[in-house]
Amino acid sequence: MVLKMSSLFLRTLREDPADAEVTSHRLLVRAGYVRRVAPGIFTMLPMGLRVLRNIERVIREEMDAIGGQELTFPALLPREPYEATGRWTEYGANLFRLKDRRQGDYLLGPTHEEMFTLAVKDMCSSYKDLPLTLYQIQSKFRDEARPRAGILRGREFVMKDSYSFDVDDDGLRDAYARHRVAYINIFDRLGLDYVICSAMSGAMGGSASEEFLALCDIGEDTFVRCANGDYAANVEAVTTPAPAARSFDGLPAAQVVDTPDTPTIETLVGLFNARDDLRKADGEWAAGDTLKNVMLMLTMPDGKREPLAIGVPGDREVDLRRVEANVAPAEVAPMTEAEFAQHPALVKGYIGPGVLGEKNSSGIRYLVDPRVVEGTAWITGADEPGKHVVHLVAGRDFTADGTIEAVRIQDGDVCPVDGGRLEQARGIEIGHIFQLGRKYAKALGLSVLDQNGKAQVVTMGSYGVGVTRAVAVVAEQTADERGLCWPRELAPADVHVVAAGKTEEIRDGAERLAADLEAAGLTVLLDDRKDVSPGVKFNDSELIGVPTIVVVGKRLADGVVEIRDRKTGTKEEVAADGAVAAVKAAIA
Ligand code: ATP
Ligand code: MG
Repeated sequence: MVLKMSSLFLRTLREDPADAEVTSHRLLVRAGYVRRVAPGIFTMLPMGLRVLRNIERVIREEMDAIGGQELTFPALLPREPYEATGRWTEYGANLFRLKDRRQGDYLLGPTHEEMFTLAVKDMCSSYKDLPLTLYQIQSKFRDEARPRAGILRGREFVMKDSYSFDVDDDGLRDAYARHRVAYINIFDRLGLDYVICSAMSGAMGGSASEEFLALCDIGEDTFVRCANGDYAANVEAVTTPAPAARSFDGLPAAQVVDTPDTPTIETLVGLFNARDDLRKADGEWAAGDTLKNVMLMLTMPDGKREPLAIGVPGDREVDLRRVEANVAPAEVAPMTEAEFAQHPALVKGYIGPGVLGEKNSSGIRYLVDPRVVEGTAWITGADEPGKHVVHLVAGRDFTADGTIEAVRIQDGDVCPVDGGRLEQARGIEIGHIFQLGRKYAKALGLSVLDQNGKAQVVTMGSYGVGVTRAVAVVAEQTADERGLCWPRELAPADVHVVAAGKTEEIRDGAERLAADLEAAGLTVLLDDRKDVSPGVKFNDSELIGVPTIVVVGKRLADGVVEIRDRKTGTKEEVAADGAVAAVKAAIA
């Protein structure tokens, strides 16, 4: 095929679009791949669609290779199945809900667990029908709060979603493992630089879950990895190795101390260090010896609100995103003054474990950092104005309702696998694999008869790839200061032929070469525009980013054309009549 730029539905722009915050958005708009329709809603122009289709092809090949069967569900869906699983409410403001002319409730599918579950329920009744893997590549709709960065986070976007169905846990583990391999193949073929991170299941409610994160400084996902390379996890999913419990033997008794004028942890610690009678047995008191109790308010999807207290070492901050991941689907916010006032047991600035916990006077659920193990002693609030308590020992003087991963992760935290040093990096989520378990099958009544004729609830996995997002992520990782720079497998054309000159000979020569390349089975982008200077055409060829560029210019008179490599910038003159072979060699 020859795509002639004189008639192709393509306009390159010299200026960056005003709303573009990131490289991929800037370049995809400038190079004529996408256009914005509304916030988070984009049109794929012919060039963009070609890249998207290439990514889809790779995904289809790898999904088919693990036995996936493709189908397509509608995007417009009835409310009932989503009501049955609770997601009509749980999805909150992210769900596009709409009414039909009879006032019936509908939604635009944000993801399709319910529909796949019902389809399998409809068609399968025996263990002999399983295992089964189904997938689709289709538009999803989410009313994202911050649709930013172009097609990286859209409100309508293409996703590949697949779902596995098995009778038993071993089957699910197997399906998960096969998807993991397929995803590795997909992202390797897309040429992406990525890591596989342990992830929280979040609102989905399930067990094993991993995210594929493309390494990228503009990514919204912060992840954590061990310097030794054996561990990578989402910030939300990082687990803190809990120290061993300690014996209470020989620990001093808890003692309440007047602590006036200690508005900060620093001043509090300073007061304790200044008092001879309160000296720490070994060295100085530090912020990490204090237990800070942070009051939060959870909002459930149905609007109900519930307080939560979290106790963390005083040298650490609470990361609301980590808290939120642990209490999903509830949303989390700091407790307001008015809400404080409703709990007379709470003395602001002096809140301690004495009043916290479901069994204590406030009745507020109290969760602590995993470091607060039995036998650890703390300086913390004494629940009276102007007073703190020292030597308050976990397990002896107080017990929490449980533990929670709540503190902001810091570089240098301890790796849960090998005790190494953790560091943080940023990435963009390109794929997600997830052992859902039986939640959806239970909610929607999907079971099959096993070998013994006994009904078994089916166990499921769900697996997503952001297809539109992948276009932007590849652009983001491969672009340079001159423009886009596609890997071969994804490029909108195999070769870009530039007619660099206004003479008929040059234009004819370029057209002939394009036709020969086409005959050799290649897709050719031909810059045959008449009133555009060679300089502008060269710049456009670099902006558009087809990996091989052939310049047909003045040197054609000597029987010579030039082959350029977009990525390395190397140029090579070859005989015009040997150009097809030379291009094929460059591509191979
Ligand atoms: P994110 O954390 O980025 O919001 P998610 O965890 O909500 O993503 P999933 O429900 O796991 O996303 O969807 C599967 C894949 O779809 C993601 O891995 C991502 O690549 C892609 N995706 C999700 N939301 C968007 C979006 N708004 N625009 C483009 N792609 C998206
Ligand atoms: Mg995800």
